Amino acid sequence: MINWNDYKSFKKSEFDCKATGENDMQKEFMDKLQELRNRLGFPLVITSGYRSVRHPIEAKKPKGGMHTKGLACDIKCHSNTAYKIVKVALELGFTGIGINQKGATGRFVHLDLRPTNEALIYSY
Ligand SMILES: [Zn+2]
Repeated sequence: MINWNDYKSFKKSEFDCKATGENDMQKEFMDKLQELRNRLGFPLVITSGYRSVRHPIEAKKPKGGMHTKGLACDIKCHSNTAYKIVKVALELGFTGIGINQKGATGRFVHLDLRPTNEALIYSY
């Protein structure tokens, strides 16, 4: 369990699984996310944090992704804001970066912490 008081820019509820309400975010990830927020200096809108393996998106996968490990989140952003988030995320050592920047609404950037030898950037 992590101490949510350590993260002045985030609330636990922002990271609760939207399907089950569970939350097992990891300190390693939240520490880095708070550092990202501090460096950027603007609010980060979290659209997905922790996900149970029973969350509809995860249930479709052969095995749970990084959200089910508490090592990922999705951040609502576009254009120049997306650029800044990705730039600083790379500098801070986030190892999984997913880019969803299509359409008029719903654009986001996914960040995770996977093993360095599996680091990647992907699109949706
Ligand atoms: Zn994601």
